[in-house]
Amino acid sequence: MGASTGDDLRFETRAIHAGQDPEPAYGSVNVPIYQTSTYAQRAVGRPVRWDYARGGNPTREAFQQALAALEGGTHALAFASGLGAESTLLLTLRPGDHVVLGNDVYGGTYRLLAHVLEPWGLGSSTCDLADADALRAAIRDETRFVWVETPSNPLLKIVDIAGAAKIAHDAGARLVVDNTFATPALQLPLALGADVVVHSVTKYLGGHSDLIGGALVTNDDELADRLAFLTNAVGAVPGPMDSYLALRGLKTLALRMRAHCENAARVAGFLSQHERARAVHYPGLSSHEGHELAAQQMSDFGGIVSFTVGSAEEARDVASSTRLFFLAESLGGVESLIEVPAPMTHASVEGSPLEVPPELIRLSVGIEHPDDLIADLDRALR
Ligand SMILES: *Cc1c(COP(=O)(O)O)cnc(C)c1O
Repeated sequence: MGASTGDDLRFETRAIHAGQDPEPAYGSVNVPIYQTSTYAQRAVGRPVRWDYARGGNPTREAFQQALAALEGGTHALAFASGLGAESTLLLTLRPGDHVVLGNDVYGGTYRLLAHVLEPWGLGSSTCDLADADALRAAIRDETRFVWVETPSNPLLKIVDIAGAAKIAHDAGARLVVDNTFATPALQLPLALGADVVVHSVTKYLGGHSDLIGGALVTNDDELADRLAFLTNAVGAVPGPMDSYLALRGLKTLALRMRAHCENAARVAGFLSQHERARAVHYPGLSSHEGHELAAQQMSDFGGIVSFTVGSAEEARDVASSTRLFFLAESLGGVESLIEVPAPMTHASVEGSPLEVPPELIRLSVGIEHPDDLIADLDRALR
């Protein structure tokens, strides 16, 4: 669509213009919500563009073009959820193939591989991806994907994307990066050597906690063809309304991420000084193990902060005592959220290599005024 997708434009401009030329019939500056399941054809077997909306929809297409432009990819595909995107990507593999995951990968990704695809014949194993030797040792002849999440959830570990890409490529595997936590506003995995970017659009891209969505982005034409086929064949596609909301979210992504990062840095600084907070995990803190790497491969450190308190019970108390931070799963919306990963988001990984400390609290720091957020945490910690 139009000249407005050009790479010469900067991120904030692409977010508003890529795939979003004014609608031709009436000049609507917003891409319409094309709420249709099918398309009238010009003649038998001659659709205008799509014959049926599982295969494509103009609102979804606009979101895909905008997201591809932001990630620096040539192809983007939208899905009904992050896990819908992941399932479709994993269906490019075959029984007997193998995937290497980080030992703190998103719990739903682990569950999909260990409990759905493993019995079906797709192997997977976990390792500490921050350790290059551990990654080399985890790769097998059958390894097709190395699956990186950085910063990771909920401990915010940082993985060297360019280093992991080289190790994966030397072994004939592809590097997949789940860019949900950083978003393309802060980190561009394809430019660092990744082959596929995965998103839970539910989080920062949507940004307002009002939709479930997913996406894949790649520069690999062959993989993109296969993924386009599978997207239609498997059918985990988003509706036009959710595609519209996702596109609307992208427009303010750069602004929101700036506010999330500023507020999270303030909150992390406050917690580091607080006597009841033990370990504080935030890549922007110079004490964080991955701080220097994060400073190299990210333009800022993101909106998620996690920290431990004295016990599991104390963690439950604190998480139930905030007023502005809502006690809820998920992350990446404009409102601040607090949760205890072990019994909440990470319940499905209990007893697995991904288990997290029960006294850990995770914050998704929103875009409210930071002084109000800090006052709320201070009250809850007292
Ligand atoms: C939420 C999340 C997912 C799964 O996305 P859904 O939209 O919930 O299906 C995948 N990866 C990460 C890092 C997530 O936070």
